[in-house]
Amino acid sequence: MTTNQLKIKPLFSEEEIRERVTALAKQISGDMQDPNNLTAICVLNGAFIFAADLIRAINPGGFAVDFIRASSYLGEHSTGTVCVSCDLKQDIRGRDILLIEDILDTGHTLSALIRHFQDCGARTVKTAVLLDKPSRRVADITADYRCFEIPDDFVVGYGLDYNEQFRGLPYIGIVQTKTEQKNGVID
Ligand code: 5GP
Ligand code: MG
Repeated sequence: MTTNQLKIKPLFSEEEIRERVTALAKQISGDMQDPNNLTAICVLNGAFIFAADLIRAINPGGFAVDFIRASSYLGEHSTGTVCVSCDLKQDIRGRDILLIEDILDTGHTLSALIRHFQDCGARTVKTAVLLDKPSRRVADITADYRCFEIPDDFVVGYGLDYNEQFRGLPYIGIVQTKTEQKNGVID
């Protein structure tokens, strides 16, 4: 399927995203016990825009930030195998982790990363996700913080891609294929 056969149906506007991210940051700030011991970890690539906005909205902002690259996805289908291809640069032994991820889908990625951080000696691990697709869950996991719950659709924008396209869209939208457009599945 080529990109020019795809149409994006807007789901959450820039404004809606900003409001939810601000509210989530406020909730996280309120729950934070020890900001000096916090390390926020952004899962690349998909969470980079969400993480940038969330991190700037959390107050106080004097915590450490690191990045990890993990993937469990090829095209539109989760493989169930999670691969960490670029690990943390910082020592997280004894640290409280805020794991920032774009989508909680089957839950394989987040579960594997939580285990990974625990193995690295993290004191606590909390998770903040932009989108949650509970209907797709396989692993037994719930996010501590989430912006939006969504149905089982493939979404792009605000950092999320379809084969590396659409990450720069300021809003989040559902990918609509040519067939769906013709059948009026999503109008
Ligand atoms: P999980 O391991 O929970 O099945 O998959 C989570 C990862 O799959 C997310 O971090 C995200 O990268 C990818 N993913 C799941 N659903 C979507 C989607 O609708 N759109 C995009 N772009 N990525 C998705
Ligand atoms: Mg991801």
